[in-house]
Amino acid sequence: MKYCNQCGAKVELQIPEGDNRERHVCIDCETIHYQNPRVVTGCLPEWEGRVLLCRRAIEPREGYWTLPAGFMENGETTHDGAIRETLEEANARIEVAGLFSMFNLPHADQVFMIYRGQLLDLDFSPGEESLDVRLFAEDEIPWDELAFPMIGETLRLYFSDRLAGSFETHVGTIRRVLKNPRRYQIEMHEAVVPQRPPG
Ligand code: ZN
Repeated sequence: MKYCNQCGAKVELQIPEGDNRERHVCIDCETIHYQNPRVVTGCLPEWEGRVLLCRRAIEPREGYWTLPAGFMENGETTHDGAIRETLEEANARIEVAGLFSMFNLPHADQVFMIYRGQLLDLDFSPGEESLDVRLFAEDEIPWDELAFPMIGETLRLYFSDRLAGSFETHVGTIRRVLKNPRRYQIEMHEAVVPQRPPG
């Protein structure tokens, strides 16, 4: 950030009084511009043991497979955001079953939340941001062509819970180890809430 969006003057990094970290502070009107993590919400849409994935039509990771997810909009809930993203990216309608995974992504300043969702019908198709949308059984998942580490981890947890016969809410943190090659470290935390069994 270079300029104040309140008055147009320059901003500079300062530690405001009573604070303990640098913020962008306007040199003229003294507005403190706080920057905080953003929430990505999305869905793992399921149909008779298969999972719906979208192939990304946009960067980052264009051409790779992902779950329908995106930044929350102001004024909506994470639950409603998951329904909206599934409709936008896959033209698919879901009934939300429960929060399935939540990952902290400190390197990206994001929190990532995925709900399980039951597809209401098989009438789906690629939205604006997708090249393709398909249902995958566990042995068909393109593990090497997944867009982001939390997508692979969420899918592994899903099929593992499915096999065990009950779904839980999984909470973890993904840290980037090296920028190039892309390497991440995944740590799961103890925060499990039993959900209703698979249908
Ligand atoms: Zn200002």
